[in-house]
Amino acid sequence: MKLLLCEECNDVRKLDYEVTSCKCGRVKARYLRDGWHAEHNGLGFLLGMNNSSLGGAIHGFRQAAEVGNDMVNQEPSPFVFDAWVMTGNPRVAINPDL
Ligand SMILES: [Zn+2]
Repeated sequence: MKLLLCEECNDVRKLDYEVTSCKCGRVKARYLRDGWHAEHNGLGFLLGMNNSSLGGAIHGFRQAAEVGNDMVNQEPSPFVFDAWVMTGNPRVAINPDL
């Protein structure tokens, strides 16, 4: 899953195939047809999130809630998931015309 991040309004939004913009309208981005690559207007940042990693963290949270264990101090934490800044990644193009 890809998200856009605007440092001006601190908004984070999930990308779609239609152009998505942050709350203030400064950062714009969208998925390309293949659903894998994306383009943005060159402002702000695009973030990538590993969907299966996120699913694992949510599953870990639910399991912990069922047994009443907050697992805050467990290493490795079952609540951590992979996310990264994708700006500059070859799967992300800049299109100032968005
Ligand atoms: Zn903004």
